[in-house]
Amino acid sequence: MVEKKIYIEVAVALPLFQHFTYLVPPPFHKETEIGKRVLVPFGKRTLTGYIINIYDSSNGLDNIKEIIDILDDSPLFPESMIKVFKWLSEYYIFPLGEVIKCALPGGINITDRSFLKLSKSGLRVLEGFGDSKEGQILKKIQKNGLKKNIINSLDFKVTESDIRKLKRLEYIVEEKKVKSAISKKKTSRYIKPVNSKKSLSDLTPKRSEIVEYLRESGEISVTQLKEIFPTINSFIKPLEEKEFVEIFQKEVYRDPFGEKIVQDSAKDLTDEQEVVVDEVVNSLGKGFKSYLLAGVTGSGKTEVYLQIAEKALNEGFDVIVLVPEISLISQTERRFRARFGDNVAVLHSGLSHGEKYDQWRKIINKMVSISIGVRSSIFAPFENTGLIIVDEEHDQSYKQDSTLRYNARDLALVRGKISDCPVLLGSATPSIQSSFNVINNKFTELTLSKRVNDMPLPLISVVDLKKHRDAKGIRKYVTPELINAIGKTLEKKEQIMLFINRRGFSTYPVCADCGETIKCLDCETSLTLHKNVNAYKCHLCGYSKASASGCSKCGSDKIKLLGIGTEKIEDLMVSMFPNARVARLDHDTIRGKNSIVKILKKMRNHEIDILVGTQMIAKGHDFPMITLVGILCADMSLNFPDFRSSERTFQLIAQVAGRAGRGTVEGQVVLQTYNPEHFSIESAKKQNFKEFLSKELYFRKSLQFPPFTRMIQIKISGKDLKKTRSVAEDIGVWCKELVHSHRKHKIDIMGPAEAPLSKIAGRFRWQLLLKCSNTGYLNHFVKCLKNGYFGKVNKVIRVTIDVDPFSMM
Ligand code: ADP
Ligand code: ZN
Ligand code: ZN
Repeated sequence: MVEKKIYIEVAVALPLFQHFTYLVPPPFHKETEIGKRVLVPFGKRTLTGYIINIYDSSNGLDNIKEIIDILDDSPLFPESMIKVFKWLSEYYIFPLGEVIKCALPGGINITDRSFLKLSKSGLRVLEGFGDSKEGQILKKIQKNGLKKNIINSLDFKVTESDIRKLKRLEYIVEEKKVKSAISKKKTSRYIKPVNSKKSLSDLTPKRSEIVEYLRESGEISVTQLKEIFPTINSFIKPLEEKEFVEIFQKEVYRDPFGEKIVQDSAKDLTDEQEVVVDEVVNSLGKGFKSYLLAGVTGSGKTEVYLQIAEKALNEGFDVIVLVPEISLISQTERRFRARFGDNVAVLHSGLSHGEKYDQWRKIINKMVSISIGVRSSIFAPFENTGLIIVDEEHDQSYKQDSTLRYNARDLALVRGKISDCPVLLGSATPSIQSSFNVINNKFTELTLSKRVNDMPLPLISVVDLKKHRDAKGIRKYVTPELINAIGKTLEKKEQIMLFINRRGFSTYPVCADCGETIKCLDCETSLTLHKNVNAYKCHLCGYSKASASGCSKCGSDKIKLLGIGTEKIEDLMVSMFPNARVARLDHDTIRGKNSIVKILKKMRNHEIDILVGTQMIAKGHDFPMITLVGILCADMSLNFPDFRSSERTFQLIAQVAGRAGRGTVEGQVVLQTYNPEHFSIESAKKQNFKEFLSKELYFRKSLQFPPFTRMIQIKISGKDLKKTRSVAEDIGVWCKELVHSHRKHKIDIMGPAEAPLSKIAGRFRWQLLLKCSNTGYLNHFVKCLKNGYFGKVNKVIRVTIDVDPFSMM
């Protein structure tokens, strides 16, 4: 009889676009599953790869190497994800193995958690080995058994297979210590009715009253029940013994404020909300469909998501919810927890590697049916995805700006197509791209036009900064109109939020004697003075130097501190309104996880009157006592050399403005700008998105920018300006050559040109932009370019491909 042979296809995490076939030796046959990692020989090396296909064959293939080991006890992703990975690899022109590596949560490396120990026989033979390689390894293990330390620690190379050999000889044993779930789970006692048909006639009136109450209300925590039946404790035991109720422990979640997340239940929907929920619920289980929900701030989008998700769960589907990256647990995440408790896996950047891994395992092991998290959670390994929700779909944090430069919003649509399920994108300020898809009938539009509590949107008044050009110093930016509004709001004991897009004190320090700008040595940008730490800092590379160091050209210590940042505004508020409690929220004030919590908590308890901050204050917060929002200079985002700068400015204004007037008092916004007549400012003032959209689309069309074309950016960087520039120029020439053989669709080549941020951390930066109205064709073009030419590029120069780039800087 011919022995059955099992082959696997393996994607290795190397910059290679093909995958490789390996033979699985019989001892591993039972363990071989798609989604597990394997250790394979690769040339002279040993590499980790992912099993992406398995087949058996009795006709042996020639020259196929055997795998060395299978690394996982259970798969890390379901087979259905392979289609998603392959799409990513094709579309973003990124090697499959590296796509998978990027998709999996960090820290799954088993060696991180593996401990080795000498066995009894290992101890016995230890001395006999002397100073041989085995002897040294064994001694090292005896000292410190963490596997990754051993692999990296000795003078010679210790491989997995050396370790495996010692294991086979039974000299050592390996223990995998997986870190425990999120630290310190809190539980409390819950009670629920059972045997609901059982007659109550044998019970005392009090006992039967309690049971009736429970049958009505369903499960409830004992503490909560105590509020209704203060003597409940003496009834629990007998009712449990008579099998009317069951007592159990349930995990209680706490928000970052350390407060319990109290379970809540579905609210009665408003008419507008009901239309939206019905529409999406009706499409569950009926294949792919994409929706764009445009709902003004405070219109109850989250409640809509919750109720649609609940229906999807009831129909047996898994649900993926994406939220933007913010420095803390988002409001949305909190509310999903409150509604679905245990059934939610949470994936966000505040979690450690171990915690993320645990959440991942919960999904793989089917312990939860919803995941909520930031962009990478689009890879949540569910097998039966029936609904995908993307909250604040316009948010820039959905685009990853390093390694695999994917956009999770776009990927949500792809995953929806592959999983054959509806995808709901929602935002108060939808992206131009998504709005364009509505116009082209690719998306179905859904609308929530009113705030739930019927409060009007805040009134926005525009202040023209040009009129204040002659004011002294910072008074250019803190205008009488703004000061007046702040004063009045303080009098009414309401709260104020001041938004400025720059942190630090002075963003443009200049020598008063020679006029030299205080610049970063490694970046082509000026340093920012941070008064609170007495240092100049570079916001691009992190370089910092003492503020006492003065001008590097003439040595003078007379430095003019031009340019405003959050610190300067905070200072000014303190001196102008000595009785007001002023605080600041930006990346500098939130070094520890707790400091941001402290600030937000103070804000909520109204222990802060004026909060100054960067974008961080624009997103998601819900403080009902804020009635005034000041935007100090809207032009900071408007003047970016980027075709999306109008879009971003409009979104930012609408989002910041949305923080005002969320309670019962109407809100107002003072919007300061040098360009009051700019269309994005004018439309933002009226909060008229449709008007903004039509004007913006007009510009995009006339310049043939996305969404009318697709873009791919080629970024070139290196430490040597000449070499970098010459590679950029070569690529420009190759592009032009290649265009001649690609005439089916027009491909526009812009550049090569120096990037607006021309040097970061010692690397010079150049770029080329390619545009084409046909996505597939552009992709094909860049692949030809890469395969045909990039091999010639000097290895010291880094060339990266960014498909649908977000940052033009
Ligand atoms: P958005 O996400 O659109 O900004 P939210 O979902 O945060 O709006 O809703 C704003 C507020 O209104 C929240 O406090 C929410 O609990 C409340 N809310 C939403 N829908 C309803 C409803 N149908 N009935 C009562 N309150 C609601
Ligand atoms: Zn000087
Ligand atoms: Zn720098």
